Amino acid sequence: MSGPATTPAAAAAALPPGATLGVMGGGQLGRMFVHAAQSLGYATAVLDADPASPAGLVAHRHVASAYLDEAGLAALAEASAAITTEFENVPAQALERLAARRPVAPAAAAVRVCQDRAAEKAHFRQAGVPCAPHALIASAEQLDAVPAGLLPGILKTAQLGYDGKGQVRVGDRAALAAAWDQLGRRPCVLEQRLALRAEISVVVARGADGAMVELPVQQNLHRDGILAVTQVPPPDVAPALQAEAVRSARALAGSLGYVGVLCVEFFVVDDGSADGALVANEMAPRPHNSGHHSLDACDVSQFELQVRTLAGLPLAAPRLHSPAVMLNLLGDLWFRGGDDAAVEPPWPAVLALPGVHLHLYGKAEARPGRKMGHLTVTAADAGTACAVAREAAARLGLPPF
Ligand code: ATP
Ligand code: MG
Repeated sequence: MSGPATTPAAAAAALPPGATLGVMGGGQLGRMFVHAAQSLGYATAVLDADPASPAGLVAHRHVASAYLDEAGLAALAEASAAITTEFENVPAQALERLAARRPVAPAAAAVRVCQDRAAEKAHFRQAGVPCAPHALIASAEQLDAVPAGLLPGILKTAQLGYDGKGQVRVGDRAALAAAWDQLGRRPCVLEQRLALRAEISVVVARGADGAMVELPVQQNLHRDGILAVTQVPPPDVAPALQAEAVRSARALAGSLGYVGVLCVEFFVVDDGSADGALVANEMAPRPHNSGHHSLDACDVSQFELQVRTLAGLPLAAPRLHSPAVMLNLLGDLWFRGGDDAAVEPPWPAVLALPGVHLHLYGKAEARPGRKMGHLTVTAADAGTACAVAREAAARLGLPPF
């Protein structure tokens, strides 16, 4: 933890309650940002083309336009005293245009790095943070020149991937060539497929004055490339490795000159040592699904940290007051009966369990793979949180973890 961030200068620059905070993107992350902003007394404005976007539905003002629409950007800038983003793939040009008129955090340049796996990996290297062995494939020559040691690997599009989309697992050169064709011969990164012992992430917040705080490290379980379960504290990761992850996340935020909330995902891989070794996977320039437990298990949530960094308020180090397990609720849950028609999951059955915090995002239509909500179980000890979360998963028909 760094020292107190309250300085007369920072306090003088803070936006007063009643000011409007703007957000690019109207998904669930924007919705939870809006809720946090509202509880600190701010008004909110959301830009998203969807008239029924989760954040647009709860904001004071909804600008229904495309991200690059001039009139929409002008309306958001007009309405807002400062603007942030909730969607990783908001075009960086849109943030640049907004920044000509209003303070924007994180800055377009930092978002651009997080949007491109090649730039992201170059940044890891520059900050001295290890990442998976990889090669850039943007031409047939680069495809042919891939070192054999990277196979078996995972071919990932350099841009516009999320939730495991734009990724193909490849075993040999023939499969690699076919996968690159399948991905439209777009610029890609081939990563060596690593044997993962665990996955963890760090959510760090950095203010304009350079002060940083972070959430305690969380451990994540993915299914089919999508986050399924987050556990805090991490059950399987040595404290020294957790501390290293925090140091790396801070180094990455600091060297980007980042302002806002940044999530860094890491793999724990075998290197023959007892603890294993840490490898950075990717960064998200916004709050992250793996930090959702902070709403209920920490005394400052990742969304409040985003509000504080945007409004120029002091950062206070979050404290995990309860061990927690977060379960993602994907649209698949609505189709468990095998029917084509969506059926509401049995919420009362899980709300009857102690320490269950249910968050639904207000999306009208459930679709397989769509993030519809999450639930966090808090308890006095990690064993109880885990046992109750397993029971909740069973009652909903989620796979065991
Ligand atoms: P996100 O929704 O987190 O943005 P994404 O589509 O960008 O996801 P990644 O984080 O790159 O995808 O990968 C998704 C998951 O696939 C990882 O969390 C991990 O479980 C697995 N994975 C990715 N890269 C590797 C690798 N090099 N070796 C082994 N497993 C990997
Ligand atoms: Mg990821």
